Order: sequence, then structure tokens, then C-alpha cells
Amino acid sequence: MEDSQLLEQLSAEVHNAWWDEKKKQGFHAPLNCPHRAPTNEYGKFEAVCEKCHTDMYPYEELAENIKEYDRVTVRACLKAIEGCGYEVVEKKQEDCMVKLKHDLLTDKYTTVYHEPPNEMNYNAPHRFIVAKSDGNIILPEPLAEIHFQEGPIKECGVNGVCNEDLIAMVITRLEHFQKSEFSCRENALCITKLEEALLWLRKRTMGRGQRGVEGTHTK
Ligand SMILES: [Zn+2]
Repeated sequence: MEDSQLLEQLSAEVHNAWWDEKKKQGFHAPLNCPHRAPTNEYGKFEAVCEKCHTDMYPYEELAENIKEYDRVTVRACLKAIEGCGYEVVEKKQEDCMVKLKHDLLTDKYTTVYHEPPNEMNYNAPHRFIVAKSDGNIILPEPLAEIHFQEGPIKECGVNGVCNEDLIAMVITRLEHFQKSEFSCRENALCITKLEEALLWLRKRTMGRGQRGVEGTHTK
């Protein structure tokens, strides 16, 4: 990433943190002001009441002189980091958590991440986090973390969640929804298909058991 691009991204993050803090203190943007009449002629950068703050808009919508406040903070922090004897180095892409992408998955509300390919053991990702989608560049605070079984049980011991556990959780949720007023055909089909998935996984385990390789790293 170019230095100027990094400065802008960090400044936007600083602005967002300030914005959150301001919201907590009860401030709002003039456009969201409860005292604003629908027909009034105030511009979006004109305060209507004393709790209006004219900078409570996305970073890219701010005037350059306002953005400069955030850039000053970022430059000062970067300088202080160096002054303390540290160095800011760009992390290689292959060392970052990877966003899980699937044609059928939307990241409208939540985003799923897993470890990068160079950290995967046993041919698959094992560590997943689910976080609220917020469009920020910083890896968000996880809503949940899931660590799957890593390696064959006989060699590595039980150290994580089984695929079957996760599927069973979803089946249980859907079964409860089916007992409620939200019962529907789609849920019923989903339960059937997930049970089918459990059957295939069971078949695989039983087959491996019969071949004497279950719980080992042998094919
Ligand atoms: Zn106001």
C-alpha cells in the first residue's frame, strides 16, 4: 500500500473512532437532528441544535481542512511509534486472515474469516471468526470464534469442533423454529438436507472405521 493511501485509511479509522465516541456522548449529524423540520433549508453542515456536530459524516464526505485534523493525529502517532523505536511494516497478504467468500453467502450483516493458506494444517482451514460487517480495514472484534478439530484424533487428540457438531447446531435451531409460528417448507427441506449431510459424513467415518484407518492420517 502506498504511504498516502495508508495515511488516508488510518485517518478514516481515526475519524470513525471519534464518531463512535461522539455518538455515545449524544451528538448527531445535522441531517439526523430531531429538531430539524422536514422542510427546513439547513444544509447538512449547518448545526440545528447544540447536540448537532457537523463532522459526523463519513470521512470521504468531509472537507479537506476537517480531514486534516485526523491526518495530524495519524502522523503524530506514526512519528511517536518510530520515536519509541518501533517500525511500521506492511504485513504480507499471505499472513492475514482471509475473508470467506461463497456465491450463496452475503456479508450484509456478518463476515466470516479464516486463517490464510500458509497457516493451514491438514489441507483445510480450522480457525474461523465471525464478525459484524462494518467495512473497516481493521479485523473487527469477533462475535464468535470457531476452532475445528485439527488433525486426526488418534494422533492429535480431541482439540476442536467437529463438522457434525456445527451441522447439528443448525438442525436443532431449525427444529425449534419449526415448532413455532415461523415454521415453513424451506426450513423443513433444510433440516432434511442437513440430516442427509450428517449421514454422508457418518458413512465416511464408518467406512474408515471398517478399513481400520478412522482417526488416523491414512487415506
Ligand atoms: Zn441537532
